[in-house]
Amino acid sequence: MTTDRRPTPRPGVLDIAAYVPGRSKAAPGVKLHKLSSNETPLRPSPAAVAAYRSVAETLALYPDGSAADLRAAIGAAHGLNPDRIVCGAGSDEILTLIAQAFIGPGDEAIHTTHGFLVYPIAIKAAGGTPVVAAETDYTADVDAILAAVTERTRVVFLANPNNPTGTYLPFDEVRRLHAGLPPETVLVIDAAYAEYVRRNDYESGIELAGNADNVIMTRTFSKIHGLAGLRIGWGYGAAHIIDALNRIRGPFNVSAPAIAAGVAAIGDRGHTEKAATHNETWLPKLTAAIEGLGLTVTPSVANFVLIHFPEEAGRRAVDADAFLVSRGVVVRRLEAYGLPNALRMTVGSDEANEAALAGLAAFMGGTT
Ligand code: PMP
Repeated sequence: MTTDRRPTPRPGVLDIAAYVPGRSKAAPGVKLHKLSSNETPLRPSPAAVAAYRSVAETLALYPDGSAADLRAAIGAAHGLNPDRIVCGAGSDEILTLIAQAFIGPGDEAIHTTHGFLVYPIAIKAAGGTPVVAAETDYTADVDAILAAVTERTRVVFLANPNNPTGTYLPFDEVRRLHAGLPPETVLVIDAAYAEYVRRNDYESGIELAGNADNVIMTRTFSKIHGLAGLRIGWGYGAAHIIDALNRIRGPFNVSAPAIAAGVAAIGDRGHTEKAATHNETWLPKLTAAIEGLGLTVTPSVANFVLIHFPEEAGRRAVDADAFLVSRGVVVRRLEAYGLPNALRMTVGSDEANEAALAGLAAFMGGTT
């Protein structure tokens, strides 16, 4: 029997635009070069793959709900107290838990204009209101963020480096941001791309998360560690923030294969170094080559570039995207980020990068 009565989500839920991931398919019959989701072009560490396989026979058992081995391995790799670490199914889950724990109806949380799309989703899902702080040159602007703070601001989400812009706020500025925030406001330093920042001043972000009462840094195994498919992220911060997240997270939110592979991956420093070096080689090369085609690239410190297209018909981002897809090169459209005339392209394998550059050159040159 049907009636017109049915459950309705609570206010705000239907205002959320679901996250649409980067595409993973090219035109039929052409080789796919997937540069749409900032994944590593390297395979995962062989040690991580072996560890993943090694748990196959014990999958009847629940994993360790506290992910103690993984937290210990992360702690050892970064010199951190494992008690101040919480792991999750991707850093997406940690971001969502932060919103759930600290934001409620009537509360506000701040992110920047082109901040990561999970922030407004997590804020709204918690019943809160996202407040957008303007950027300067596609980079977080500390004064704009501080000007957006009200007595209702519970959380500030700062992606550093930011996705999809690739821009970076130097640590002095992060410190200035923190100093200007009320002590009751949680500062989230989302450092998903931290390992690509060769200046390594993100380590100072770790220090801030270790010493301040209102800071948490989030990290992921999806990028440099090449384990996006396994969903492993973590947060490190003030003990009472970690405690709050532990109270509300799912009891077994990190799977046994994820724990095993994560421990091995973070221990394989050579592999991480290889991925960082590959990126360091290609990032400036790609940037220069794309600029050489007459396109504008926002300076990036991450494993992707933001490419801006001219306004003229036939040369816009949407046209470039269709052209690249026809050649197997799949990049990220950015309408959802308010950047309809830009594309985000991940630093891929040598072959994928060459294919992308050849595609862009053909597009800009008008040849096929
Ligand atoms: N933060 C930022 C800035 C990201 O770009 C991403 C991945 N798109 C994430 C967090 C989430 O990554 P994951 O859930 O795979 O750890």
